[in-house]
Amino acid sequence: MSDPVRPHGETPLTIAAGDGVGPEIMRATLEVLTAAGARLDPEWVDLGEAMYRQGHGTGVPPQAWTSLRRTRVLLKGPISTPQGGGFKSVNVTLRKTLGLYANVRPCVAYTPYVPSLHPHLDLVIVRENEEDLYAGIEHRQTDEVYQCLKLITRPGCERIVRHAFAYARAHGRTRVTCMTKDNIMKLTDGLFHRVFDEVAGEYPEISAEHMIVDIGAARLAATPERFDVIVTPNLYGDILSDIAAQIAGSVGLAGSANVGDGAAMFEAIHGSAPDIAGKDLANPSGLLQAAVMMLVHVGQAEVAERVHNAWLTTLEDGVVTADIGGEAVEVVGTAAFARAVAMRLGRAPSRLKPVRLADARPLTIPGYRRAPAADKRLVGIDVFVHERDSDPARLAARLRAHSVPGLALQMITNRGVKVWPDGFPETFCTDHWRCRFLGDGPILPALPVTLLASLVDGEIDVIKTENLCTFDGLPGYALGQGQ
Ligand code: NAD
Repeated sequence: MSDPVRPHGETPLTIAAGDGVGPEIMRATLEVLTAAGARLDPEWVDLGEAMYRQGHGTGVPPQAWTSLRRTRVLLKGPISTPQGGGFKSVNVTLRKTLGLYANVRPCVAYTPYVPSLHPHLDLVIVRENEEDLYAGIEHRQTDEVYQCLKLITRPGCERIVRHAFAYARAHGRTRVTCMTKDNIMKLTDGLFHRVFDEVAGEYPEISAEHMIVDIGAARLAATPERFDVIVTPNLYGDILSDIAAQIAGSVGLAGSANVGDGAAMFEAIHGSAPDIAGKDLANPSGLLQAAVMMLVHVGQAEVAERVHNAWLTTLEDGVVTADIGGEAVEVVGTAAFARAVAMRLGRAPSRLKPVRLADARPLTIPGYRRAPAADKRLVGIDVFVHERDSDPARLAARLRAHSVPGLALQMITNRGVKVWPDGFPETFCTDHWRCRFLGDGPILPALPVTLLASLVDGEIDVIKTENLCTFDGLPGYALGQGQ
């Protein structure tokens, strides 16, 4: 796309108009930014549909990478992901390649101008963006069982939790709520919670609380106004941010930031809306909100505040696009809405709460410092076995017959429930067994290899193993036998 509206240089910025309604909402957004005096030096790139058609399987051509490496900031319209195999999502590609670990999504109710059951809802969800079940490491292990690996790392937890607290401090927010399921996933979610408690100590002026995510989600749906900033791992954050945007009543008005150490991407949360593309019907507000976040990110917070307050004033004056119900006075098209916002630059709303962004500084997140290595000792091995015979006692007898000196079969579980020794005959068993072998103390690294060779000789179908280690004397594996 050409460069219809050119703000006045200074901060290099990559712009991709996107597909569907993308070009028209991008034009509208840039018109407002230009009128507000944003000091931007945009470079236009093509991402999405046209690039897929030209054979770029990720939708991101080399020229876009060159620009992104230079500017490190992307304002992006929505992209249509083609149906069918062979195409990778532009968003996933950008997020993973650029290491955009934090997804920041403010959700605000604008009642009565935008109907919402929760008029005082005003919260921000900070979602970890790279880890958890989204690493895409999945395997079919047996006839009956499939596995998805959940990875939670200390650097990943530290970065996202620090981001949440730094965001709260920079934006005058007073409470950060962490949501995990660490009553069940004691090691993975337990790490996220522990890091949260550690980092919270560095921000004494911000109150910190933890909730189990199921009750947290219920409270979010029932009383969202009690939340301020929520920080959470990837999967829970994915779900919670959609709940929050939906109950705010403002899905079409919300923007989001994807931020990493060296780059950031800003976009509306809605899609490319092909049904209304090219009709001057689309609401540019989501992209405009994303642009406001981008202006704070590049150190132009005073421009961001001016744009945001002009936009709130426009809503308050009842000037809206057709998708918004509420107390509309004048329903306008995309371009006219942008002009209406631009005309109100310098004004602040009187009924809606004006935003104070002028003092917000770009976030500074301390770099990750790796702790000294723990004293790690190998003490055993979990051997996962594919076996169709559903009698655990027979399996135990075969395993013990092929065990090796120094490693003893301690227990067998099926889907995490102990079935040997002393299992219950009522327990339903699949063809996937976790068989735990432990030594009397630390063992040599070669011992599990010897065990595996012996098990394979005994025609045991080993599908994977996990080493059992202690770290500074503490077990690095769950001791539990299922819930
Ligand atoms: P969508 O958000 O594009 O549309 C859902 C409904 O909301 C449609 O009726 C649409 O007209 C309306 N709508 C969306 N944005 C609007 C706006 N700014 N103003 C007024 N009405 C608006 O979701 P979808 O139909 O599920 O997806 C369409 C395409 O967008 C798909 O190809 C999908 O992959 C893509 N998508 C992209 C992103 C992204 O790039 N971040 C996000 C979601 C979906």
